[in-house]
Amino acid sequence: MSLFDLSGRVAVVTGANTGIGQGIAVALAQAGADIAAVGRTPAEETAAKVKALGRKCELVGADLSTIAPVQAIVDYVIEELGGLHILVNNAGIIRRADAVDFTEEDWDAVVDTNLKSVFFLSQAAGRHMIANRASTGQRGKIINIASMLSFQGGIRVPSYTASKSGVAGLTKLLACEWADKGVNVNAIAPGYIATNNTAALQADESRNRQIMERIPEGRWGDPADIGGASVFLASSAADYVQGHVLAVDGGWLAR
Ligand code: NDP
Repeated sequence: MSLFDLSGRVAVVTGANTGIGQGIAVALAQAGADIAAVGRTPAEETAAKVKALGRKCELVGADLSTIAPVQAIVDYVIEELGGLHILVNNAGIIRRADAVDFTEEDWDAVVDTNLKSVFFLSQAAGRHMIANRASTGQRGKIINIASMLSFQGGIRVPSYTASKSGVAGLTKLLACEWADKGVNVNAIAPGYIATNNTAALQADESRNRQIMERIPEGRWGDPADIGGASVFLASSAADYVQGHVLAVDGGWLAR
């Protein structure tokens, strides 16, 4: 059996209908996991890709701008797929404006989705994972999708930077609280990844050139690059990795 084998595992991936979330869901399925794709938009394309790999994919409709659905998500996934072993908190949004003009609405929208829901969905899943570890010995794995702006300031994205720095800190706290209860909590900080979210930047010729020249790898990342790191963190190969924020950025932060 491969060190990275995830067969018999059930993974919840939020925001799995597109971009990085789809890349993660497909990579986890390639490693053998069944998938629950959680989000506002039904992840039909992702489900087709997961099922083509011979894995199950359950679509779970939920709006994570509030924490109201988090317990129901966990209960539904356990009922429908028979367990919950891996949680990937990927859903996220960004709002752009100068700090002097930034509104409370844009602050709350981003922080509620990118940080508050990450904590409360992790709490609901973590309670189950801790109980499951005690009864079956299986480990739980939580992977939070952070950002380069977990480490850097950026400009015109105050609530995004605050939320992603918060995700990095929360990852460390949960790892400290849950490591001895059989739950690994880690994060991935993607660099520039080609998705709908970054389409405008890719289309801006001069900005795109600046970005590519600044990345040591000399290219944008692909959602599959984040998928590969997710498989590692979800697997037994990473059982001793705790509270780590893994940059997957083509060397951006190393420069
Ligand atoms: P996309 O905009 O392509 O995808 C975001 C996903 O989050 C979508 O599936 C979206 O669903 C979902 N989502 C947003 N709001 C909610 C909500 N309220 N409830 C449920 N689901 C929601 O972005 P990316 O794939 O590029 O980004 C994915 C993650 O990676 C984000 O957390 C982002 O911050 C992070 N990231 C991305 C980088 C990049 O370069 N692309 C760099 C660093 C971090 P719906 O379509 O229904 O809104």
